[in-house]
Amino acid sequence: MVSIIMDYRFVEMEKVIREVMSCRKCELWRTRNNPVPGEGSLNAEVMFIGEAPGYNEDVQGRPFVGAAGKLLDALISRVLNLARGDVYIANVLKCRPPGNRDPLPEEVELCTPYLDRQLLIVRPRVIVTLGRYSTMYLMRKAGIQVRDISSVRGKLYKINVLGLSVNLIPTFHPAAALYNPKLKALLEEDFRRVREALQARGAKQLGIEDFLG
Ligand code: URA
Ligand code: SF4
Repeated sequence: MVSIIMDYRFVEMEKVIREVMSCRKCELWRTRNNPVPGEGSLNAEVMFIGEAPGYNEDVQGRPFVGAAGKLLDALISRVLNLARGDVYIANVLKCRPPGNRDPLPEEVELCTPYLDRQLLIVRPRVIVTLGRYSTMYLMRKAGIQVRDISSVRGKLYKINVLGLSVNLIPTFHPAAALYNPKLKALLEEDFRRVREALQARGAKQLGIEDFLG
């Protein structure tokens, strides 16, 4: 039975990926080379959400494969003791904004139904938002006011979004920390908070598979 449910989630995620690959809902399809739907384990307890693909991601069609991605990988392995394949990594926008400009509100609105579906398929216990855009997106959804990323980063918010109760830990975008040792130290501190949240007692949110097993 469990394998049927896994297949079901796999099929649902395949659907999301296929739709993203051919999506033309916003104008970013015109300038992208490759959409970047996201990747990782469907059983991930932790999901990382970045902003949008950059140059390298657009070339390869995979999230966080440039310099910021190297830092993210290092933190995942060194602080969380996990492999990249153990977690799920996605972005608010699936296509690269030209010149890495900031996402526009209408792009966020048109693209985030994909992210919402990914969240509902993976049902992570912990969400780590990387940077302003993903933090704002989830905090707004949860009805929490955010002044700036510095005032919320590293804190654990128990939120309810899309019918899921999850632990949200916002932090800086790794790209911002790359050349700023102070931010890098804070980012690492926040990852230790993520590790604690993952170690804390409490089962993964019950999904239908837990009743059918
Ligand atoms: N920055 C992001 O926000 N996402 C990526 O996938 C890469 C860089
Ligand atoms: Fe579609 Fe999102 Fe790409 Fe826009 S950014 S074309 S909404 S997948």
